[in-house]
Amino acid sequence: MGSNLMDATTGPDAADGPVVIIGGGPAGATLARTLLAGEDDVSVVLLTAEPDAPYDRTHLSKSVLTGEREAPPSLYPDDLDDPRLDLRTGTEVVAVDAASRTLTLADGDPLACGRLVLATGASPRSLPLPGIERSGVHLVRERVAALELRDALAGGGHLVVLGGGLIGLEVAAAARQRGCEVTVLEVAARLLGRVLPAILADHVQAVHRDHGTTIELGVRPTELTGEARVAGVRLADGRELAADHVVVAVGAAPRTQLAVDAGIEVEDGILVDDRFRTSVPGIYAIGDAVRFRACDGDGPGLRTEAWTPALAMGQHLGRNLLGADEAYAEVPWMWSDQHDLTIQAAGSPVLDGVQRGELSASTGMAVFGLADGRVTGVAGVSEGRGIGRTVRGAMPMIAQATPVTADELADPDVDLRRLARERS
Ligand SMILES: Cc1cc2nc3c(=O)[nH]c(=O)nc-3n(C[C@H](O)[C@H](O)[C@H](O)COP(=O)(O)OP(=O)(O)OC[C@H]3O[C@@H](n4cnc5c(N)ncnc54)[C@H](O)[C@@H]3O)c2cc1C
Repeated sequence: MGSNLMDATTGPDAADGPVVIIGGGPAGATLARTLLAGEDDVSVVLLTAEPDAPYDRTHLSKSVLTGEREAPPSLYPDDLDDPRLDLRTGTEVVAVDAASRTLTLADGDPLACGRLVLATGASPRSLPLPGIERSGVHLVRERVAALELRDALAGGGHLVVLGGGLIGLEVAAAARQRGCEVTVLEVAARLLGRVLPAILADHVQAVHRDHGTTIELGVRPTELTGEARVAGVRLADGRELAADHVVVAVGAAPRTQLAVDAGIEVEDGILVDDRFRTSVPGIYAIGDAVRFRACDGDGPGLRTEAWTPALAMGQHLGRNLLGADEAYAEVPWMWSDQHDLTIQAAGSPVLDGVQRGELSASTGMAVFGLADGRVTGVAGVSEGRGIGRTVRGAMPMIAQATPVTADELADPDVDLRRLARERS
């Protein structure tokens, strides 16, 4: 089916044939939805290696693991009946011929594309430890693996989580809720070292300890012991911790191999400009898989690993393919839920800065990054969702580079949204 989709960079040829999206995560699924909603005469092929139609994977380390939900919620289930959408689950793309824009699927079939979008996301990093292949060792990224872990935890026992980042801590909280004994091992000197300032991370650590989780910092696992099944974690200091289950949660790497093999420029992420164009005309990329080219050409550009930016990128590219031609300038925002805590952050990561509020208050504490009188980012923690008001309230300031002083930021009575409005 032909379509009226626009593409200034690739000429009319690109408008022949379907828009093909590799990856059925939030970025790819939202792009498909935006195209279906915006254009009658559109044909979209959504290819995903997972056996499932698009779903919300953020629940995997939370309500799915605790058993509150039987399965993660579907994303846009209404779209699945749309005859203009050809959703192919369990379909892995193994090669991209960038020149002819033809894909090779795992079963050997070719697929010709009009526009091609890589929304391949990120894969959990593993650790090169002897014994990592033993059963009872889990990575949490996809529904099937999360359900296996949930079922394993139903029997109780000792869970050792390798990695004190957001997902590792969410898994730890869920496992405590299931009644497991839980130990988190973090190689760095503190938790959440890439995400939160120390004052907030220390509070998160205290809450986990209050809930009975053992947290060991500055420890390095060297081997997963056992026979066919994991039985323990050996540490560099010579100790061995008994373990019934091990979760490896040491971050995620952008899935870029298809792009690399196709000759598309990649630097720890598929490089894109502010319209999600890769280095090859007619091929776009969105979501966790991408890194934005640095505007000043200096240093690495931004890469996000968060749900809301993935949705926003899918929406934005969809509008552009429908003719909008706008630069993407959304402020990235993320959240994490652990026990009763809500963690939120927006903008560039903040590891130190201006504090506002109290950890004991329902509105929590936020820390702002401030450079040249402008907010670069904000991170915050509260019991319950109270911190959202501050973090979301600061986003217009970040987007508009609103001038602000440290005293204004530190004062909980200063309305940040109003300040951004008044000074924009
Ligand atoms: C357990 C967990 C909890 C999370 N919780 C939060 C949270 O609380 N808050 C938050 O902000 N973020 C959270 N995130 C992060 C968020 O889920 C991701 O940022 C988001 O899913 C990225 O979306 P994406 O569409 O770019 O990629 P993904 O969601 O990774 O989807 C990519 C899809 O592409 C498919 N694919 C890849 N290569 C191929 C190929 N060659 N052929 C076919 N298909 C392919 C994959 O199978 C996958 O389905 C969480 C992530 C995980 C794993």
